[in-house]
Amino acid sequence: MPMIDGQRVVADLKRLAEFGSYKTGVHRPTYSPVDVESRHWLADKLREAGLDTMIDGIGNVIGRNSSARRRLLVGSHSETQPYGGWLDGSLGVIYGLELARTFAADPGCAELGIEVAAWADEEGHYESFLGSRSFTGVLSEEQIDQVRGRDDGTPLREALRRAGFAERPRERVDPGRYVGYLEAHIEQGDTLDTSGLRIGVVETIVGIWNYRVTLDGEQNHAGTTRMVRRKDAGVAMVRLATRIHERFPEIAGPRTVWTIGRMLIEPNAPSVIPGHAEMQVQFRDTDPERLVLFERTLLDLVGEADRAGPCQVAIEPIARSEPRPMDPGLQAQIEGAAERHAPGMHMRLPSAAGHDAAVLSYRMPAGMMFIPSLGGISHHWSEDTNEEDIVLGAQVFAAAAERILRAAS
Ligand SMILES: [Zn+2]
Repeated sequence: MPMIDGQRVVADLKRLAEFGSYKTGVHRPTYSPVDVESRHWLADKLREAGLDTMIDGIGNVIGRNSSARRRLLVGSHSETQPYGGWLDGSLGVIYGLELARTFAADPGCAELGIEVAAWADEEGHYESFLGSRSFTGVLSEEQIDQVRGRDDGTPLREALRRAGFAERPRERVDPGRYVGYLEAHIEQGDTLDTSGLRIGVVETIVGIWNYRVTLDGEQNHAGTTRMVRRKDAGVAMVRLATRIHERFPEIAGPRTVWTIGRMLIEPNAPSVIPGHAEMQVQFRDTDPERLVLFERTLLDLVGEADRAGPCQVAIEPIARSEPRPMDPGLQAQIEGAAERHAPGMHMRLPSAAGHDAAVLSYRMPAGMMFIPSLGGISHHWSEDTNEEDIVLGAQVFAAAAERILRAAS
């Protein structure tokens, strides 16, 4: 059985966290100079592990094993959220590196190959899942032409050129090459932490549905316009938002979540009645039927608000990702490995965050394993996990990978 080196895993995670370190976390936006540096460092580490490694035209770092008879693709993303945590993404990449080293050093695993990927821009500094979407063949050259950085509007082409990746070919998946894709990640929620469990086996990655609601009224003077003749788009938006937050709990499942995370009013001035307002409404669930019910309810509420006047209210979908069930065979192997190394300390659970594994699952069997996040905190520099959990997770992950590879014929 491949035995991981826990201290080596922790040391490499700490080394990777030095690229863009911020307080106890990391600030490493995709294609920033430190991100590019960290990708070259990762490529060197994968080469040291004996993999045939390259960085491709979208910035994916891919390490290949040409001698194995069966191969498992293992990875995650390596950029971080702004002022984010040191483990989100990095954990799965360093676990992949450790598995490649461990399997290569174990004569009993000579025919079992670990290939490693550090995907680019899962976090969406330019567009979410750029790297895994490129690899699975659903990102066109035309889309790349159009994408711009969400902070400063830098064209993606320009960012790739500065990073030194622009002239490189983009690697495409050959699904026949792999028995599947395996990704480890911190849970980011608090389910494992609050229940005192140490390993999570992901059943499904949630679908995330996002909408833009726009409200148009009449911009006018905040003193001279009598209340009866106002068409205040700000009032209409706040009323509608309240209705949404009252109605959604009545149709929610046990783990449905919804967020109005962005609201704008124009012109946003103290003595002007807002003439235009918009907000983004998002909800997540693992059940496709519940997502449809939420959408129908949201459309009804928008329709009611529009008919009630005095403002015009319209809605358009921004994105609807499907819930993605993880492969049942891979789930069973991860669970078997967890029972071996952490008996009674594991559970099955959904992922409430999106992951590259959802993208890969369209092309090959995909599985995910979680380790606890202290206090359920993530997308923040204070994100952390106990070292014993990082080490235990690496061992369970290696055992799961071995079981998956041996079970494949
Ligand atoms: Zn992540």
